Amino acid sequence: MGAAIWYGAGRENFRWEQVDLLGPNTEEVLIKVKKCFFSAMHVRAVLVGHAKHQPPEIFGRMFAGDVVAVGANVTNVKVGMRVTLNPERPCGQCYYCQVKEWGHCLNPTLLASGGMAEYVLVPAPLVDRIFELPPNITYAEGAYTETLACILQAMDLSNIGKSDIGKSDIGNSDIVVILGDGGVGLTFVQLARLQGATKVIIAGKHDEALQQALDLGAFRVVNIQHESLEAVVNQETQGYGADVIIEAVGNRQTYEQSMSLLRCGGTAVEFGGTPPGTKFTGDPNLIHYRSLKIHGSYRYKPEHFRRALELICTKQIDLSPIITHQVLSSNLTTDAVDIHQRSDCRALVIDFP
Ligand SMILES: [Zn+2]
Repeated sequence: MGAAIWYGAGRENFRWEQVDLLGPNTEEVLIKVKKCFFSAMHVRAVLVGHAKHQPPEIFGRMFAGDVVAVGANVTNVKVGMRVTLNPERPCGQCYYCQVKEWGHCLNPTLLASGGMAEYVLVPAPLVDRIFELPPNITYAEGAYTETLACILQAMDLSNIGKSDIGKSDIGNSDIVVILGDGGVGLTFVQLARLQGATKVIIAGKHDEALQQALDLGAFRVVNIQHESLEAVVNQETQGYGADVIIEAVGNRQTYEQSMSLLRCGGTAVEFGGTPPGTKFTGDPNLIHYRSLKIHGSYRYKPEHFRRALELICTKQIDLSPIITHQVLSSNLTTDAVDIHQRSDCRALVIDFP
């Protein structure tokens, strides 16, 4: 089968090659991939490498497709089902599993190779994590479930809609600032509104995406190339600062900014991963004297995956303005990085015809 193999940093080290296709044993399932997302994390890995991945690897946790072969002992999955997959199973034994921090499990079962290939072989421990897609959900929407699960964990950490401010007479519930107007930022806008935030301010560099954010419920948009986000946050919060900042870019500046724009006791959720070697600076007293809560968010818990699928299947999240670009699998290794870096690309999905 054809597969995109990542051999480490450098465009020339991301290559479409033929690899052996293994059939399922009695406990496994074979999925023919239809759509798989190519995300900012993959751009970073191809261009500069990735702190959490070792080559060679076939990427692609966010995919959907058709079940084409099923092991004799598998009962929950049938040939012909349209499906997506929660691509990891925590070990249940390590410290992190004991404290239910599943995303940090030291010994999870993962896919040996991901969805940037024509087929994915699902190992036995992951077969019960295959979810059928209803007919009204496209493969691309189904493939977004894993991304949305990550975003839902970040939403839980943000505590949006759960602060006392929303119950007071001030008239506001949470004032949320989202840094980044990519597909993830636009998803955060929708979730923040769903979760009860009245003022969602989103900052980015792309006028079309920012207009889309307004259509999706943002209260105010800031193109940081023309306007000071700090001035807007001051104005909209009477100088207090935001209740919640969500960093959805993944660079030094936005990490620094995420702390400086918060009110006392405010919460920052750092969602974006940064290139290896990134350093940032800040004033420790900002965190200390303002009693800031700083959360990193990585991966998700199994319940986030189930909630994500439910949100997608019930159409509570509008993905149409988010999935803007597509690349054919045959052009994946040559074109995907450039397409993803276009200013109008919010999410790029790989099409396997
Ligand atoms: Zn574990």
